[in-house]
Amino acid sequence: MTIFDATTLQATYRQLGEPFSTDQLPTPVANPTLIRVNRALAEQLNLSVDELESPENLQIFAGNSVPHNSQPIATVYAAHQFGGWNPQLGDGRAVLLGEVITQDGLRYDVQLKGSGQTPYSRRGDGRSALGPVLREYIVSEAMAALGIPTTRALAAVTTGEQVVRESFLPGGILTRVASSHIRIGTFQFFSAQGDIDAVKVLADYVIDRHYPQARDNTEPYKALLGYVVAAQARLIAQWMSIGFIHGVMNTDNMLVCGETVDYGPCAFMDAYNPQKVFSSIDTHGRYAYSNQADIGHWNLSWLAQALLPLMAEEEAEAIKKAQGSLSQFSAIFGEHYQTLMAAKLGFATPSATVTPLFSDLLEIMAQQGCDYTLTFRALTDQLAPKGTGDVLGELYPLHPALQGWLKEWLDVLAEENIDHAVAHQLMANNNPVFIPRNHQIEAVINEATRDNDFTRFHKLVDVLAKPFVYREVDADFARPPRPDEEVLATFCGT
Ligand code: AMP
Ligand code: MG
Repeated sequence: MTIFDATTLQATYRQLGEPFSTDQLPTPVANPTLIRVNRALAEQLNLSVDELESPENLQIFAGNSVPHNSQPIATVYAAHQFGGWNPQLGDGRAVLLGEVITQDGLRYDVQLKGSGQTPYSRRGDGRSALGPVLREYIVSEAMAALGIPTTRALAAVTTGEQVVRESFLPGGILTRVASSHIRIGTFQFFSAQGDIDAVKVLADYVIDRHYPQARDNTEPYKALLGYVVAAQARLIAQWMSIGFIHGVMNTDNMLVCGETVDYGPCAFMDAYNPQKVFSSIDTHGRYAYSNQADIGHWNLSWLAQALLPLMAEEEAEAIKKAQGSLSQFSAIFGEHYQTLMAAKLGFATPSATVTPLFSDLLEIMAQQGCDYTLTFRALTDQLAPKGTGDVLGELYPLHPALQGWLKEWLDVLAEENIDHAVAHQLMANNNPVFIPRNHQIEAVINEATRDNDFTRFHKLVDVLAKPFVYREVDADFARPPRPDEEVLATFCGT
């Protein structure tokens, strides 16, 4: 019995035909072992969960056998990577097994990542080291628990084979789930070739699959662009509100469905610093924390460019329409960001008094190097009803430099007649206490890679599944890194 036995894996993307994908089986691996299967996600996807950890499922997650009704493919795309154009990319180490439909009628891709070479591998080995597989599992599932649109992790396995990176490392494969894997770069691939028919097929497919409301619009392709712009603007505002740095916002790493994808050199900030960059290859700080909205907008302008021929015959007219949709980005981002930041301070809606309050706060936090996550949590605790155990206490006292600001904030809450219990609830729901901190992820990867020990991995995944409730027994997972634990750079790990 396998997880897919009671499911018909669909292949609507494969049915778009040759230019979009190539049939590609995963390449078997020597000696796979199961690390973890995500039961809650499997249930949500309507899969058979009776024997999740069966040897048959392991063979599927390892790419050693394919589900009975699967016709795996590798898809093609292009991208701007760090601003430079790359006309030919694609799934170089991934295959799409097929699509599943949930009970609510939602369609999801199921993809193996690290499953061997494909026609798009270029010089790559088609494999993934164990470390990046664990990182993606941990961070993508943490993002889901934080309520942020994201691809998901259904399973992780080791391959029993080594991959050659800076050194020999154990290999791994992640089973990834996404609303779809269609990227801005997928549109760019066909646009750059002047294949307007293919761009139209793709746009129609995306409308049907993700934005059917656009069909009712008199200008469906302009509407499509508008929906993608809005989804990305909201997504990036959410990243900003939790201190997340994606790290590699190339146009192939931006899904048109609006889910976060590609957890390569990503990281959550510990100490607040708007200029923060983690990725070791981002030498110019292109993808720094505070640049993310601008980069999102820049990336979307390439989607707009690809859609131009569908919007109007006259180029000038098409550009005007595209600009109409693109220009919404800043307003949508700003509104969403302000709302999220207001909620972090206990205000249900942003206002002219609230906005300066949080910009002042962030300024002090940056000057003092305050921990981004725990400062908001320590503020949340200020309004906690007396006697609750769910407070940080000694773990992270509010920084003394915030005393003056604290008084101002309490004054504004009083002026606006905001009930502390209500504000506390809003804050507790918007200020996580457990985030996937880099030093924790690093420790997990070290233990797994060096000792083949996954105890810490499982513990961290479990802790991060409930990010908004502080549990003192798990205090070690909440605290910021000590100076000697601090991770200064993250690596793509490809
Ligand atoms: P990423 O950095 O994961 O976004 O990957 C960028 C591009 O390189 C994508 O087209 C990947 O499919 C490809 N790629 C990354 N790692 C490998 C690998 N080990 N083997 C083959 N292709 C790869
Ligand atoms: Mg990628």
